[in-house]
Amino acid sequence: MVRVKRALISVSDKTGIVDFARDLVALGVEVLSTGGTCRTINEAGVPVTEISSYTGFPEMLSGRVKTLHPKVHGGLLGLRDDPEHRAAMEQHGIENIDLLVVNLYPFEKTVARPGVSRAEAVEQIDIGGPAMLRSAAKNHRSVGVVTAPEDYPRVLAALREQDRELPPSLLRELAVAAFQRTARYDAAIAEWLFAQELADGATQERFPRGFTLAGTRAQTLRYGENPHQEAALYRFATPGAHSLTSAQVLNGKALSYNNYVDLDAALRLASDFEAPFACVVKHNNPCGAASAATLGEAIAQAWAGDPVSAFGSVLAFNRSVDLPTAKFLTADRRFVEAIVAPGFDEDAFEHLTTVPKWGKNVRLLTVGEVGPKSGAYLAGELKPISGGFLVQDADQSREQREQCEVVTRAEPTSEQLDGLVFANLVAKHVKSNAIVIAKGTRVLGVGAGQMSRIDSVQLAIAKAGDQVQGAVLASDAFFPFPDGPETAMDAGITAILQPGGSVKDKAVIDACDERGVPMVFTGARHFRH
Ligand code: 5GP
Repeated sequence: MVRVKRALISVSDKTGIVDFARDLVALGVEVLSTGGTCRTINEAGVPVTEISSYTGFPEMLSGRVKTLHPKVHGGLLGLRDDPEHRAAMEQHGIENIDLLVVNLYPFEKTVARPGVSRAEAVEQIDIGGPAMLRSAAKNHRSVGVVTAPEDYPRVLAALREQDRELPPSLLRELAVAAFQRTARYDAAIAEWLFAQELADGATQERFPRGFTLAGTRAQTLRYGENPHQEAALYRFATPGAHSLTSAQVLNGKALSYNNYVDLDAALRLASDFEAPFACVVKHNNPCGAASAATLGEAIAQAWAGDPVSAFGSVLAFNRSVDLPTAKFLTADRRFVEAIVAPGFDEDAFEHLTTVPKWGKNVRLLTVGEVGPKSGAYLAGELKPISGGFLVQDADQSREQREQCEVVTRAEPTSEQLDGLVFANLVAKHVKSNAIVIAKGTRVLGVGAGQMSRIDSVQLAIAKAGDQVQGAVLASDAFFPFPDGPETAMDAGITAILQPGGSVKDKAVIDACDERGVPMVFTGARHFRH
C-alpha cells in the first residue's frame, strides 16, 4: 500500500483539475505543481506550491525545462525501502512524491490542425511530462500515476476509502496506462515526423525500420462485424483532413463497425472521380455507381444499377448533396444507412433529417473534400495477419483514356472508351475477381468476389439483365482464358477492358477479333482481396 502525502500536478488539459486538487488538499495531501497549473489552482483559492520554489530552480527555456530536476525525478524514482536510496535522498533534500498527475502537451491535437507549422508542432513535443510519467510508472510499487481526467474520481475514491492509501492493483493499472500513454505519444511524434519526410518527397527506403502506428482509441463501437465481437475505432495521429476518421458526423444513430467498413469503401471509390459522382455500397462492394452532369442524375443512375441491393446501403458523393439528390433518396420508400459527402446543402440536410423514417436515423458525414486530390487514402493500407500485419501503399493508379492500348483490330468508339475507363475505375474498388459492366458512365452489373473470373463475368451479366446489350465490360485482372470474353460477347457486350499480361493474351485477343469486338489493355491490375 502507498500512503499519499505529496502529489505533483502538471497538466495541459486543466479539465477537472481544480476540484481534484481541492479534494487532495482536503485529504491532507501536499500539492506541488508547475507554472500554469499552479496558477489555475491557486486562482481558485486552493493552496498549492509551485515546483520551482520546491526545486530552487526556475522554469526556463520557454518551458522546455520545468521539472527535469533530481528533486522531482529522485522523489518519483527513489525506492522507499532501500537504505542507500533513503540516505542519498536525505543527503540531497529529496522528498518522496507519492502521486503524479500529468497530462501531456496536446501534440496529437496540434498536428491534426490544418496548416500547423513544423515549428509549432515541434514545440508541442512534451519532454518533462513523459519523463515524469515514466519515472512514476517505473516506481509503481510506491507511486501512483494519473494520466487522464477520467481517472480522477476513482483515484479519489480509493484515497478516501483507505486513509490516503492506494491499493497495489490500482497502482499497477495506472502504470500500464502511463506507459501506454507515453508509447502512443512517442509513436505519434515518430509518425508525424515520418509523414513530414514523405510529404517532402523522401522514399520509404530511407526508413528501413518502417513506420510507427500511433492509433489512438477514439471510440468504442457497439460491437464488431457480429454482435459477439468487441470493436473500437482507432484514429491515426496524422489521419489527413479528408479521411473518414476526421469526418464530422452531422446526424444519425451511432456508427457501427460495418458502417465504417462500407463508408470507407464508398469514400475511396468516390475519391477516384472528378465529375459529379455517386456510388451505392453494400457489404464493402459497390452495387451501383454513376457519373453524370448533376449529382441528382448520378444518384438516380447509380441506384438503378441494382435497386434491390441498394436498400439499406451506404452512399458516397464527390459533391455537396443537393436538394434534388436528397429528394430522390427519400422517395419511393428508398432507405440508406449512411451517407458521406463533401457537404450537404442546407435545404438537402433539412429534408433528409426531417422526412419520416429517415429523420434522426440516417447517418450523415462530411469530410470536406472528396476527389483525386483530397489525399483521403494516402496513408496506405494495413492487413492484420496472425502475429503481425502487412502494409502496402493505397492503390492510387487511375487509368484514363491515354493508358488504354487497343490490342484488337476493331477500335472502341469514344463513348465506349469513356464507359471502359469508368468501369475500370469502379472495378478497382470491387472485391476480386471483379467484373463491371457499364453503359456510358453508369454501372449496370457487378460480379464481385468470385473465385473464378468466369463466374464473376456470368454474375455481372445476370445483374445487368436486358441492359447488357451494347454495354461494355472491365475486368480488374487479366483473363486467363478466352471463355470470359466469349461469354460476355455472347451476351451482347461490345467492348472490353483488361490489364493484359496472361500467357493466353493472344488467344483472348483472337476471340475478340473473330467477332470484331474491340479490346483495350491498361497494363494496371487492380486486385482487391
Ligand atoms: P503548466 O501549464 O503547468 O505550465 O504546464 C503543464 C505541462 O507541462 C504538462 O503538460 C506537462 O506534461 C508539461 N511539463 C512538465 N514538465 C516539463 C518539462 O520539464 N519540459 C517540458 N517540455 N514540459 C513539461
